[in-house]
Amino acid sequence: MLTEQAADAFASLTGKAPEGVWTAPGRINLIGEHTDYNDGFVLPFALPHAAYLAASQRTDGRWRLRSVDLDDTVELGPDDLVPGSPGWHSYLAGVVWALRQAGHDVAGADLVLTSDVPLGAGLSSSAAIECAALAALADLNGLEIEPLDRAKLARVAENAYVGAPTGLLDQAASTLCVADHALFLDCRSFEHQQVPLAVGAAGLEILVIDTRTRHSHVDGEYAARRASCEEACRLLGVPALRDVTDLDAALAQLPELIGRRTRHVVTEDQRVLDAMTALAEDDYAELGRLMTASHASMRDDYEITEASVDLAVETALAAGALGARMTGGGFGGCVLALVAADRVEETSAAVAQAFADAGHEAPVTFLARPSDGARRLR
Ligand code: ADP
Ligand code: MG
Repeated sequence: MLTEQAADAFASLTGKAPEGVWTAPGRINLIGEHTDYNDGFVLPFALPHAAYLAASQRTDGRWRLRSVDLDDTVELGPDDLVPGSPGWHSYLAGVVWALRQAGHDVAGADLVLTSDVPLGAGLSSSAAIECAALAALADLNGLEIEPLDRAKLARVAENAYVGAPTGLLDQAASTLCVADHALFLDCRSFEHQQVPLAVGAAGLEILVIDTRTRHSHVDGEYAARRASCEEACRLLGVPALRDVTDLDAALAQLPELIGRRTRHVVTEDQRVLDAMTALAEDDYAELGRLMTASHASMRDDYEITEASVDLAVETALAAGALGARMTGGGFGGCVLALVAADRVEETSAAVAQAFADAGHEAPVTFLARPSDGARRLR
């Protein structure tokens, strides 16, 4: 178990048992894609994959940070906490820095982590280690910080210290999620709500198909989509696409391409709200329809899918999935399929076969039961 692995590695490094072990999960977005930077809605849930962090305080005001997975240890003093420092440890040092910037007293500490969230696969391994560190440092220093504020501080670490300009989705999911629920997050007000997603009780599974396709032009395309949304807002005179209330009237005012980008964002926000209603009514057939409609919108209007994700979606649906969609920024990455529990094997096999036939690299599949957010384990 990774809890033991973290504690054992801590003992090897320091010669003592840790004061505690904390964990925080990776996340995946059920629905609501490219809505976050349009002040809209997202609906992520926490993965069973998580970071585990064993920690104790030190009395010398220094921080020793170890990743078991990378077999690397770094020691920092207060003068070494400099935003923009490169390296994996900046995700943890950034949390120390963000807490201190916010006026919290943070004593020195030894932090030893291991994680089974795959790095750089779009499942938010970075938020997992940040949120685990935040939970550990808050407890070790007796800091009373509300969960949403913890997520915001972890985001400061990533934005201001690591230098990655991301929204709150990852850290909010890693901190706030509850097992068997998705987390509704309003990206303007940060209001949030737990939405039941007890797929197991409904005889279903969420099958994740990692297509292992990662395109190099993602950053440029992402910037282009954001620019289109900003241009649409300028032409429509609204602060954000979240504020478009009459889609047809908006489309009549916009050039064709920007209109399609706008239609994706506006209809996707509505699909998130409709998904919440479906889940409140345990209507998984409707959830599946919304997922598939979301994929079509990303494919046809936002144009952020590519051949392997489209093939994974089509094959999963042909194998009987209730719904399927790409999740994440686009141009590859993971597909989520809502599948009857007794059809998981068949669906995975069908996708693997379709990928082999099309000459794509073999996909990796796993099940994602909605899991708990950051917490102390011992
Ligand atoms: P994602 O969050 O989608 O996995 P990111 O690029 O945002 O991808 O974050 C990945 C980075 O987070 C890694 O390059 C590494 O610096 C850091 N990281 C994540 N997990 C670990 C780990 N187990 N050990 C050390 N660093 C990690
Ligand atoms: Mg990340």
